[in-house]
Amino acid sequence: MTAPILIWLRRDLRLADHPALAAAAAEGPVVLAFCLDEQGGRPFGGASRWWLHQSLAQLGGVTLALGRSEQEIPRLALACGARAVYWNQSADPVLRTVEDRVQAALTVPCRIFPGDTLFAPGSVRSKSGGQFQVFTAFWRAALALPPPARPLPAPAALHVAPCPGLELNALGLMPKLEWWRSMASAWRPGEAGATTLLGAFLDGPVQAYHRQRDRPDHDATSRLSPHLAFGEISPRQIWHAAQAVPPDDGVRTFLKELGWREFSRHLLANHPTLPQVPLRREFAAFPWRDDPAALRQWQMGRTGYPIVDAGMRQLWATGWMHNRVRMVVASFLIKDLLIPWQAGEEWFWDTLVDADSASNAASWQWVAGSGADAAPFFRIFNPVTQGEKFDPDGSYVRNWVPELAHLSTAVIHQPWKLGRVPGYPPPMIDHAAARTRALAAFKGLRGAP
Ligand code: FAD
Repeated sequence: MTAPILIWLRRDLRLADHPALAAAAAEGPVVLAFCLDEQGGRPFGGASRWWLHQSLAQLGGVTLALGRSEQEIPRLALACGARAVYWNQSADPVLRTVEDRVQAALTVPCRIFPGDTLFAPGSVRSKSGGQFQVFTAFWRAALALPPPARPLPAPAALHVAPCPGLELNALGLMPKLEWWRSMASAWRPGEAGATTLLGAFLDGPVQAYHRQRDRPDHDATSRLSPHLAFGEISPRQIWHAAQAVPPDDGVRTFLKELGWREFSRHLLANHPTLPQVPLRREFAAFPWRDDPAALRQWQMGRTGYPIVDAGMRQLWATGWMHNRVRMVVASFLIKDLLIPWQAGEEWFWDTLVDADSASNAASWQWVAGSGADAAPFFRIFNPVTQGEKFDPDGSYVRNWVPELAHLSTAVIHQPWKLGRVPGYPPPMIDHAAARTRALAAFKGLRGAP
């Protein structure tokens, strides 16, 4: 019998449009292998660990290992008598160095396939050959390139060869806290869940996406982000499925958002320290405050600003937060509380089911004003007007902050107008004063515009 090819899985937990798997399955039997490598790259956060457990269970037939990838993948290849190892390349430069170490340790040949972007990192360039720092120019240039290749079907016949590995529970991915229970009722991890979600979204909601996407009180976005983060669906599948829908502003705006994901990945490929270091150097000298108690209030959704608290509680309960509210809570942490964006990035990394080193870091830097194509620091979100504009009748707040559920729409975003609301904290800081303080801190930065 032909020796199998080992497929090294990472954040590509699907069968369809999986270039490495498609090539290997066409040649004979395969072994699907996943190694939980806590030292090769940033360890998964708590919510991601829960999702990963579910996703591996859904995929099924995966040989599991725990330890350094450069030791475990060659060991598994040997154990199952693999004649080659195939994988899809990561866009994350840290994970690329792990790939290099695995490649160096293997005693059988390997083949590396295109990864999880629409356009290969580095391939979207300006006329002078440089990489873009501004999204609009990046996306215009990307759209002028030949379109992404059509997605590959799942292998028609897949012969998965046996290979000894660990039980899923031995990876210890399930959080000890029962906190995951509310996440479980919000999601259906796995490739089938992703495909159903995409179909349902393109069947209707996408048409109103450009008008509704900023409304956290409406179910107007695709919620595909965790499925994309774990590669249960590829951006190419989404791209081509969207081409089949009559092109309108909704579809165009949706694809543009996928473009932001792409832009973030290209940025990370170019700037490996994006999750830690501000791209605009002057921000390294920003006079941040060290205030663990304030950070905790923000994390727990106890700031006294309803839209901020609703967002933080949605995040804790479901592992996801609406994009508009992510921007509001991030602005509040960075600008009202003057807590470094890296602290927020870390909390999101731990609690988001879609936590992704490229999109998370690029978005935090965008809000902080320290990123490539960022909102200027002096544009500070007002949590009251943001709430009134994007949650006009307060239903998002009522849903996530039950202490305020009985309040009228007139005061739902400024409950302090009623005096003290039982069980709900007063604002932890006066927004107008915080804004003045933030602008003064920003002005003191050398080189700030
Ligand atoms: P849709 O509106 O349906 O968009 C479709 C897809 O496009 C998303 O699934 C996502 O892959 C991509 N996308 C949409 N908006 C953005 C964006 N602004 N930047 C990058 N990609 C985008 N997204 C993550 O996937 N992981 C993160 O860790 C993450 N952290 C964020 C942190 C902050 C502070 C902010 C402001 C945004 C962050 N985002 C992150 C981006 C965005 O909020 C989510 O991608 C989006 O809310 C996911 O919901 P959806 O799938 O319904 O998106």
